Amino acid sequence: MRRKLAAGNWKMNGLSGQLTELEALAEAHPKPAVDVLICPPVTLLATAARQCPFDIGAQDCHANASGAHTGDVSAEMLRDVGAKAVIVGHSERRESYDEHSDIVRAKARAAQQAGLMAIVCMGESLAQREAQNTLDIIGGQLAGSVPDNATAENLVIAYEPIWAIGTGLVPSLAQIGEVHGFIRARLERRFGAGVGRGVRILYGGSVKPDNAAEIFQVPDVDGALVGGASLKAADFSPIINALEGA
Ligand code: PEP
Repeated sequence: MRRKLAAGNWKMNGLSGQLTELEALAEAHPKPAVDVLICPPVTLLATAARQCPFDIGAQDCHANASGAHTGDVSAEMLRDVGAKAVIVGHSERRESYDEHSDIVRAKARAAQQAGLMAIVCMGESLAQREAQNTLDIIGGQLAGSVPDNATAENLVIAYEPIWAIGTGLVPSLAQIGEVHGFIRARLERRFGAGVGRGVRILYGGSVKPDNAAEIFQVPDVDGALVGGASLKAADFSPIINALEGA
């Protein structure tokens, strides 16, 4: 049985005052029946990990443990200040920093070696979907971005269609189900039934309080990676409720 996961990606949003949203969220969910993970900007990570009852994650890490990489942060460093997870391969990083799947795989491996859960993101562009290449793209990103040593504990996949991120557009439930089912089958084929059925697959892309419940009914949707709607407790809380009720 996979434990469901509601993960919030704050992206480059939030000064210290934003941490009051975590206090409000913790008050609303003293004992959540699902895993809750918040990924604040790295500047808030250590404080959030100290103060917040939920697991805290980062939004990126370097593939190396240390060295001459000005401005970068390693997975070990994230772990050192209390992170439990790190997002790798978000489409904003794949696009803005030209991060290809081999870099994403190296980052995921570094995360797992440091004891972090790697949330590996993948998703197609609108042009790729319209050209009916979605499953080819996802299959390629899955094969290229996920390291070999996956376990149900050290790996989470996030399916995030690029065209749905921050746009208010959401794929149909059938489209979400098709991709999640495809990812599940590929995970089982590569890692065997035990690991393949144990790895959680999140949907991400314009998840909001008013569409979360129906998305969470889709088979093989084990939770969500939420951007904009994770910034306010008033928005993220009903999403957690919907996942608890799924
Ligand atoms: C994201 O950036 O991972 C995301 C899913 O964003 P949003 O929920 O705002 O579409």
